[in-house]
Amino acid sequence: MTIPSQARVVIVGGGIAGVSTAYHLTKLGITDVTLLEQGRLTCGTTWHAAGLVGQTRANRNATRMSRYGIELYSSLEAETGLATGWKQCGSVNVARTPERMKLMRRQMARAKSFGVEFEWLSPNEIRERVPVLRTDDLTGGVWIPGDGKANPTDLAQSLAKGARNRGARIFEQVRVTGVKRRGRGVAGLEWTSGDDRGEISCDYVVNCAGQWAREFGALAGVAVPLQSAEHFYIVTEPIAGVTPTMPVIRDPDGYIYFKEEVGGIVMGGFEPVAKPWNVERIPEQFEFQLLPEDWDQFEVLMENALTRMPSLETAQVKMLLNGPESFTLDGNFLLGEAPDLRGYFVCAGFNSAGIANAGGAGRLIAEWISAGEPPFDVWDIDIRRFAPLHINRRHLIDRTVETLGLHYAMRWPREELVTVRPLRRSPLYDRLKAKGAVFGTKLNWERANYFRPQDSAEAPYTLDTPAWLPWMLDEQRACREDVVVFDQTSFAKFVLKGRDALAVLEKICANRIDVDVGRIVYTAMLNERGGFESDVTITRVAADEFFILTGSAQATRDYTWIERHIDEDQHAALVDVTSAYSVLSVMGPRADALLQALGGDFAVAPLPFSTTRQIDVGYARVRAARMSYVGGPGYEIHVTTDQCVTLYDALCEAGASFGLRDAGYYTLDALRIEAGRRAWGADLSPDETPLEAGLSYAVALAKPVDFIGRDALLRQRERGISKRLVQLTLDDPAAFPWGGEPVLMDDRYVGELTSAGYSRALGRAVAFVYARSANADTPLTDAAIDAARYAVDIAGTMYSATVHRETVRP
Ligand SMILES: Cc1cc2nc3c(=O)[nH]c(=O)nc-3n(C[C@H](O)[C@H](O)[C@H](O)COP(=O)(O)OP(=O)(O)OC[C@H]3O[C@@H](n4cnc5c(N)ncnc54)[C@H](O)[C@@H]3O)c2cc1C
Repeated sequence: MTIPSQARVVIVGGGIAGVSTAYHLTKLGITDVTLLEQGRLTCGTTWHAAGLVGQTRANRNATRMSRYGIELYSSLEAETGLATGWKQCGSVNVARTPERMKLMRRQMARAKSFGVEFEWLSPNEIRERVPVLRTDDLTGGVWIPGDGKANPTDLAQSLAKGARNRGARIFEQVRVTGVKRRGRGVAGLEWTSGDDRGEISCDYVVNCAGQWAREFGALAGVAVPLQSAEHFYIVTEPIAGVTPTMPVIRDPDGYIYFKEEVGGIVMGGFEPVAKPWNVERIPEQFEFQLLPEDWDQFEVLMENALTRMPSLETAQVKMLLNGPESFTLDGNFLLGEAPDLRGYFVCAGFNSAGIANAGGAGRLIAEWISAGEPPFDVWDIDIRRFAPLHINRRHLIDRTVETLGLHYAMRWPREELVTVRPLRRSPLYDRLKAKGAVFGTKLNWERANYFRPQDSAEAPYTLDTPAWLPWMLDEQRACREDVVVFDQTSFAKFVLKGRDALAVLEKICANRIDVDVGRIVYTAMLNERGGFESDVTITRVAADEFFILTGSAQATRDYTWIERHIDEDQHAALVDVTSAYSVLSVMGPRADALLQALGGDFAVAPLPFSTTRQIDVGYARVRAARMSYVGGPGYEIHVTTDQCVTLYDALCEAGASFGLRDAGYYTLDALRIEAGRRAWGADLSPDETPLEAGLSYAVALAKPVDFIGRDALLRQRERGISKRLVQLTLDDPAAFPWGGEPVLMDDRYVGELTSAGYSRALGRAVAFVYARSANADTPLTDAAIDAARYAVDIAGTMYSATVHRETVRP
């Protein structure tokens, strides 16, 4: 077989990710697929994986993907005739502490609503199931019968065979050495094999190059922020009492897992302080190779394993395997079309879960290529959640130490990562810090979450009601009774300018953008399914110039979405001005008076809602936008970064007599939920339409431009909607949901809290959830929403809740 000079899709890398992508593309009927592997299939990382396959992940769509993998692995042999080593041995996760048990209860409450079966176990029941374990120091555990293990090499070969059977061409010993671009898209690639070399022109490239994916991405100017780290397990000779039916054991408090293999044990884990593989470049020749043993690094895992499985003490250890694996900055995968280059997809960064998740990931990439958009919301694994700054080498290395180490660590609600900080800072960072700001990060921007009193330490993490609550409630009070200032400098900000700027925006925005200069429009940007790609506010600053403000996390995603919808012949330039502007939001009933006192000139002509005006605030000259995300009166002030400190100091100086205080993102979030404002990434996603989200007012169906998503909305309006965002208040004032907790409507799981906050005005938690009809074909009526009983499942305990179709009034 000779390497073709043309293919529709070329996959680079023949590990589990590459062969799964080939398998799924051909399954969808895209058979003109060529896969190039520089060594032999599986020779990178895949061949030495431990092969654990679990199904529970953090959210519904991720769990759906991993559960699909299990379905596939258990049926693949019947299709291809090649065994996969799949064994549904189940798994037992154990807890050493009550806190861990509580965390498991929260995780499993979610898993239950995603359809995962499980059973709680007492320490005695754990011992009955796995007699080789020590259990007297355990609090309890959970049995997940659907989990299992597979043989990674066999599985990959079986997927490759399935792909070949349907026409994919797979070549080994062929290295891809370059990617060719045509304009903003992919045109083809260059390869070498021994003394041969050649080119393939293609429509799509899929970078499945594993730990090489970052360097391979760089060849095409594509940022793939991942880092290789050393990753270990031991393999023992047979141990008495270890049987072939032994479930996979995870003991996260000890950072370890165990798996039976030919009567012995494979034991590995995720040490709390990890060891990035600090090589300048990943060697090109690294075929079926391993890294040197490092018993010092493995010691913490070994000690914990001896506690959990005492018979290991006398077991014969055959080897300590040290293999490199790719880790990412947040411990999640890197999937999807790269923002840097059209037609260039990435399927990498599996954080030691690539065997379990390659089935779902390969299918996702295939469906994305086939349909031109992902089939459902995959924001948490989408490569567009990162920015070009993330390719910094030092950043990757330092953060990998942390993210690998967090894999089995106790994870807390709203936990913030601690490495690579501070990186992106508002001009006010030092001032806010001096005033007690406790910072979190979004896309590496430091942002004040809350302000602690000067004599108090930071509140510790907890699963229960946090110690920062009273401080946050006082910020809420100030916002509702006096005036507060939020530093929202981290907002992503773009300017779109040019003769055709309006036409571009009218096409991608669901609301009407052709408004008077100075007006602000809140609008949805929809996909063809009518789902939210984003929601943004747009200020028309001139006839042909627009200032676009969007969430801090969406900077890359939204920039790419807008830029890709500017046709080649259109005259419109998009510029990211995020760092050129700060945004200070001055919110509360005394905001007008405060700005007036500083020269804001609102007394003569008050600024109407959704309009902007250039005003003086002290010595600063700024744009004031009359709008409020938290509800109530207030202004967003857009100020060039050079004047930000001047503006802030002026506000603070004059603010004392107005009761001004600083407030953080926890307050902002709680108040916006109380006020019924939705947030993209929480309440809004590509899976929800404005009709379902209760945001029809952000859509102008009658505008003369046929905007993206309009047809889908018209069809949906005709058909009726079967889910709708509603507010819930928890009836028990002591209940403290963090968001993500499952919700039952008449004893039926309907979804999770998309966001939750504690409201001072209501004296209880307030949250959003999508209420759903029992049957997706049945429209959801107001009467059905009102008649249902609602309960929120917090770590297995049901808390009753009251529904509000309209925003609740405090
Ligand atoms: C010790 C250890 C234990 C693990 N245990 C588990 C587990 O229990 N469960 C689990 O789910 N996961 C586990 N993993 C993780 C899993 O092995 C990986 O996530 C997975 O194998 C990654 O697959 P991949 O296809 O992305 O990468 P790889 O298997 O590395 O494949 C990438 C391929 O791309 C090729 N390539 C690179 N550059 C080029 C180029 N320019 N041209 C052509 N070819 C190129 C490479 O040669 C390589 O074969 C473990 C990993 C380690 C190290």
